[in-house]
This record gives sequence, C-alpha cells and structure tokens, in this order.
Amino acid sequence: MMYALVDGARSRAVPRGRASCPDCSQTMIAKCGPIVCWHWAHAVGSDCEPWSEPESAWHLGWKERFLLAGCQVEVPIVRDGERHRADVVLPGGRIVELQHGYLSPDAIWQREAFYRDVVWLYDAERFWDRVVIRDKAFKWLHAARSMQLHGRPRLWHVGEVVWLVEWIRSYARGTFGGMSRSIGAAELPWRMVETEQEQRSGEQDPCSAGRGVGSHVGSRSAS
Ligand SMILES: [Zn+2]
Repeated sequence: MMYALVDGARSRAVPRGRASCPDCSQTMIAKCGPIVCWHWAHAVGSDCEPWSEPESAWHLGWKERFLLAGCQVEVPIVRDGERHRADVVLPGGRIVELQHGYLSPDAIWQREAFYRDVVWLYDAERFWDRVVIRDKAFKWLHAARSMQLHGRPRLWHVGEVVWLVEWIRSYARGTFGGMSRSIGAAELPWRMVETEQEQRSGEQDPCSAGRGVGSHVGSRSAS
C-alpha cells in the first residue's frame, strides 16, 4: 500500500518505517528497496483486502499519476456492511480499479456490483504480444475470456499509451475486438477527471465521448 498510519496520520513509507494498516490496524512494515517504489506491506500474512493484488511498481506508478491529477488512492468504500479498498477514486466518486492479473467472471461481477461506477485499468503488457491491431480492430490470440464479461469500461495500458477497449467477442476463428482510441498514459488521469466533471455538470453527450475516457452513462457512485 502507498499509505499507512504513523501516529494516526496517513504516511508514505520511509526506510525502516513502522505503521499500522488503516483498514485492519495490523502492523505494516516499510518496503524501501532500490527497484520497487517504496510502499507498505502487512508485517504478518497477506493484505487484509481480499480483492487486492500484490503491490507492484505498475500499481504504485498509476497511483502516483492519479494523485497528481487530484484523485484519492486506497479509499475505503463501505456498502451494506461490506468494506473494500478502492485503488483510485476520482473527485466525483468514480472508481478506477488497477488490474494486473486476470479475474474470474465471478470476481468481475462482484466488484462491478459493489463499486458500481468503476473503470478497469488493466496492465496489458503481459498479453500485448498476442494482440494484433489493424486500424482500430484487434485480434487477440489465446485471449482471456473473462475480459469479455465486463459491464464497465476497460482500459488497456501498454508502454506510454492507454487504449479504450470498446468490445470483445469470441468466434470460432478467435477472439476479436475493437478499440476506439488511445491516449497518452501520463494524460489519462487528467482526462478522466475532466470527463467526470463534464458529466456531472450535465454535459452528457455520448457521441462526443471521444473527448472522454472511460465514460459511460449509468449509475453514479453513492459513496
Ligand atoms: Zn490491513
């Protein structure tokens, strides 16, 4: 995690630091190696958030980018007695889930039902060598079938670019899909915040969604 509590204050990791988890109050130890970005890890056992992935440089890098754009990271969301830690929350409440690994269909449905207004940002680097792009259509060899099952927007991050995936379908001859456009990775958080603000101010025009990223007409987070 990027933040833990030191004397009750949300704090970043420092070498040999000790802190407590803001969610479960267990001891956190600072991981300040030369390669991976500095972060906190639970001293004993795994993360108390069952939906979390092991923190990687990829996760931490995206959290930094969203922080710069005025978003919150590692935000507890409580609904109907259930509590989870959202990776990123935009100023208007939209959630961004950073996803390095593939999820099962059940996991996708559970999280979309819980977070509601959520956009998925996937690390596409791991399968990008199996994606062939022509114009704005793609063929994905040995595709992860569960990627089709999202009800919420999917973004694929590869290199310095993020693609918005419009659709994915499997046919006898393979898995195909469409991507509407790409955007610079550094620009993405700012554009997502901008899109959310436009939608909140009532300028919802799905046809001009070319300006927006991860936009969709639908429920707004009740958080
Ligand atoms: Zn914890």
